[in-house]
Amino acid sequence: DTEADRPVEGKPLTSEHCEYFSPLVFGAAALSHHYNPAGWLDTDGPLRTVRLALRYGITAFDTSPWYGASEIVLGSVLQSLSSEFPRSSYKLITKCGRYGPEVKDFDYSPGAIRRSVARSLERLKTDYLDVLFLHDVEFVATRVTPNSAAGDGSLALAGDGERAWGFVPGEEARVWGEGDQKILIALAEIRKMKEEGIVKAIGITGLPLPTLLRLSLLALHTPPYEPLDCILSYAQFHLQNSTFASFLPHFISRAKIPHILCASPLAMGLLTSSPPSWHPAPPALHEVARETIALAQDWPGGLPNLALGFGMRRQGPVMGNQGRSVPTVVGFSNLDEVHEALKVWREVSEDDKATSRARLDMEAAVQQRFIERGWKNWSW
Ligand code: NAD
Repeated sequence: DTEADRPVEGKPLTSEHCEYFSPLVFGAAALSHHYNPAGWLDTDGPLRTVRLALRYGITAFDTSPWYGASEIVLGSVLQSLSSEFPRSSYKLITKCGRYGPEVKDFDYSPGAIRRSVARSLERLKTDYLDVLFLHDVEFVATRVTPNSAAGDGSLALAGDGERAWGFVPGEEARVWGEGDQKILIALAEIRKMKEEGIVKAIGITGLPLPTLLRLSLLALHTPPYEPLDCILSYAQFHLQNSTFASFLPHFISRAKIPHILCASPLAMGLLTSSPPSWHPAPPALHEVARETIALAQDWPGGLPNLALGFGMRRQGPVMGNQGRSVPTVVGFSNLDEVHEALKVWREVSEDDKATSRARLDMEAAVQQRFIERGWKNWSW
């Protein structure tokens, strides 16, 4: 236990806006070859990173069967830490339905979901999950294309656009095809698991926000007419793309989702000096991201520090979340990254007035660069 393994003293990680999850959630995709070399997984790096996170009060972990060894590594690390952190002191979030990179690797059938959850419980060394998500629903849902550009973050679409998003009264419960049917069947199965006590909360994750919103509305407006407990949106609320800001009120008010998780404040590594090789951004966007790294080079902690702050500020009332809990899911690969996230959270978590003018100006300058280069709010 070195000094670096212990939290820096300061404000505890709690927020009146985040009741169910801690304000920061540990993105455990980092505990896999997706983000780190396989060799690192065999070192004491994962254990020390997870332990420091827990010591700071990051008490929720997001993983998936799709994240390679993540569930196995996380389960074994948490077992080693069980005397300091018993199972009741943290929440486990995992997913089902996605098992490989191809569309054919999705299986939302009830049997596959049951088998997947049984395996996750075994790997995570637990007998219940705090959240079970259907992973990346857009690959399974019926593809409905609004007739207007959907990627601009605007909800003021007319005609087919609103219909396709379930925004026309009577259309919220419309099942557009076989894909939607599969999602409803899968939701029925995971609702059963909730009744059985195997999972405490259920929900969906995905990238395209119109699809995520449409399916959240579909879940609410079809039997048993209950909202999903939770959704996870990723890579849609960061310095380069803040599309989620205009969708958030609709997830809260229309889809009545009590727990909303916002993942990837660093745009899955795009806003760092070493994005993963598989990152879906085209070379021209990587180039602009490098420009913004240079722009922020004199800012303490550089672009990642700014990007983390921008993501975390949505937890307060300032980002239109109506005071609702919107924790930030961040991937951590080492002790420094955990310390840095806590430092940023302590700085920006009070309210917008406490956030320094200098930080807001730097955020604006970075966003302006993405606007000028034509990449603001672009998503793949
Ligand atoms: P992220 O934006 O959180 O970036 C993570 C990367 O940034 C990692 O390589 C990490 O080591 C690095 N990093 C963290 N802090 C840093 C710092 N201060 N300086 C430099 N680099 C830093 O992206 P993510 O990990 O993809 O997203 C977070 C989590 O959200 C995932 O681990 C996963 O749990 C979840 N997620 C879910 C879905 C889904 O359900 N479809 C999709 C994406 C992410």
